[in-house]
Amino acid sequence: MQDNLEGRWALIVHGGAKPWDDKEEQANRDGIRAAVEAGAGVLAGGGSALDAVEAAIRTMEDLSVFNAGKGSAPNEEGGIEMCAGIMDGRDLSAGAVGAIRSVRNPIGVARRLMAEKEIILVGEGALKFAREKGFPLATDEELKAEEEKQLAAEGLHDTVGAVALDMGGNLAAGTSTGGLDGQKVGRIGDSPLPGAGLYADNHVGAVSFSGDGETIARLTLAARIMASLEDGSGMEQAIGKAVAKLPGTGGAEADGGGIGIHKDGTIGWAHNSPMFAVGYAARELGAPRVYLKKDEEERG
Ligand code: ASP
Repeated sequence: MQDNLEGRWALIVHGGAKPWDDKEEQANRDGIRAAVEAGAGVLAGGGSALDAVEAAIRTMEDLSVFNAGKGSAPNEEGGIEMCAGIMDGRDLSAGAVGAIRSVRNPIGVARRLMAEKEIILVGEGALKFAREKGFPLATDEELKAEEEKQLAAEGLHDTVGAVALDMGGNLAAGTSTGGLDGQKVGRIGDSPLPGAGLYADNHVGAVSFSGDGETIARLTLAARIMASLEDGSGMEQAIGKAVAKLPGTGGAEADGGGIGIHKDGTIGWAHNSPMFAVGYAARELGAPRVYLKKDEEERG
């Protein structure tokens, strides 16, 4: 708990709520660490929470170990459609893209949309906007997860996300995903939807989720966290309670994980998926902490 937020910054990132994969443990740890370093570098230098979230997510989109940007899961036709969203806790502005094809960094396009009136663009319209604004493009082959990873991931999920608090006391949250392996063409899950896969409000807190997208959307999980925090709950307790609702609503397989930062600066995370690669850093913590599941953090 922080009595005085002055000059404090904090960042937490996740690499998806997913099944355990021994072979990818190290790549997950390295990728999470790189993302934390990218975001923490922005915050320690006095940059904004929004810039830190974008930098951390962009780092993970560029790494094929995560299902976002490069490394995305193919849909039912073998094509790549991605979703990303970003939100600014200062004024509740948001930008998101759904089922966007051919862009290298969907989070950059979502961020750029924040300057417009619209908050979500999908499919062709999202790609048209990205082209008009000059975002770098990539082929499906360049974006697609390697075949071995696709087989291991069949029917399962993962996504990346980041939440940051900057020295000015501002919060931001973001998510980016290649969606579900074999998903229907045009499907959008929770990831780009404010109130479902992400939310940020300076007066309350900020969160980002990964997991069973349909169930997260049905439960408006991020909005639930905001309500719990306003009722006095702690961040970690609120996320734990929210993810515990997933199986009861979406069936036994519905799991997920979430990360967040309370307006008082407290970092929290919880998951009921086998693995949830998370890393965080804060001004007072020194070296970034990186874990593949909650038990690792609890063991110290
Ligand atoms: N929530 C994402 C989706 O439904 C997938 C994930 O988090 O793994 O598209």
